[in-house]
Amino acid sequence: MPALTFIATANAISYCNAIPHFVESEESSLGIDPKALRAYLLVHTEQRDGHCVNKNTGRVVRALVLMHTFGHPSCLDELLAIAYDFNLTMIEDAAESLGSQYRSRHTGTFGRLGTLSFNGNKTITTGGGGAILTNDSALAIRAKHLTTTAKLPHAWHYVHDEIGYNYRLPNLNAALGCAQLEQVSQFIAAKRALFKRYEAAFAGVNGIQIKKEPADCLSNYWLQTLVLERNQIEKRDAILNAFNEAGYMSRPAWTLMHQLEPYRHCPRMDLDMAESLANRLINIPSSAVLAEVRGG
Ligand SMILES: *Cc1c(COP(=O)(O)O)cnc(C)c1O
Repeated sequence: MPALTFIATANAISYCNAIPHFVESEESSLGIDPKALRAYLLVHTEQRDGHCVNKNTGRVVRALVLMHTFGHPSCLDELLAIAYDFNLTMIEDAAESLGSQYRSRHTGTFGRLGTLSFNGNKTITTGGGGAILTNDSALAIRAKHLTTTAKLPHAWHYVHDEIGYNYRLPNLNAALGCAQLEQVSQFIAAKRALFKRYEAAFAGVNGIQIKKEPADCLSNYWLQTLVLERNQIEKRDAILNAFNEAGYMSRPAWTLMHQLEPYRHCPRMDLDMAESLANRLINIPSSAVLAEVRGG
């Protein structure tokens, strides 16, 4: 999984008693760097009976979990090839990328399973909760079973055949989600229009770039992002202060996973680009309603 993500990606791995390995970032997508990942897997793993095994620990490496940062699709072709070559199950944390497409196909549908978030700050919201995307009907049934306390369907018997979870989306939240879904195209159009306004506004500003969708991709522009050039890093906090004092909420990207206390000891590769990006990314106001404001 990428080092540059929200902590939920790592937590999901920990809940399965698995150990995350933190992977380097690629600059144009802000997602996992396929070259760095392939090199790391070649050095640290070997294939045994169709499994990818960590040579240092003997543990099986099961999955490649990617995340589409701020709504920008990751390098899916290259990452799918790695998953295939190393016998890894690809899972997409598509929490931020509802509506984003890679070569005209929706993110979250490339892996065996993708996850969406409908948290309050996402492209559409149900207050809280999310959804799983999969084309594998057996897996869908299994997911539904596990998320609804593993109760066997029956008119009146309470029989649970394993330890499940109460992770269902309540009906009230789902109703809100249905209404939100009807507006999703307008929200995404508005966010894309907001990007155009920022792009025009920052065109003449030296040392700073507004993050544009990667080639062959359509991004939902969930969070609008400024990228400082490397020689401007020392100005970041002054920029953050100036924006926030002027009433424009802005903030840096997340603290990288390997720098967080619970994940300090996890295996990782060189994370130079991830560390550089973490120092140079600034998220700026991104709400769909901002696209309608005139002037400024
Ligand atoms: C928002 C988010 C999540 C989790 O979403 P919740 O619905 O709040 O659990 C997971 N991963 C990423 C990358 C996110 O941005």
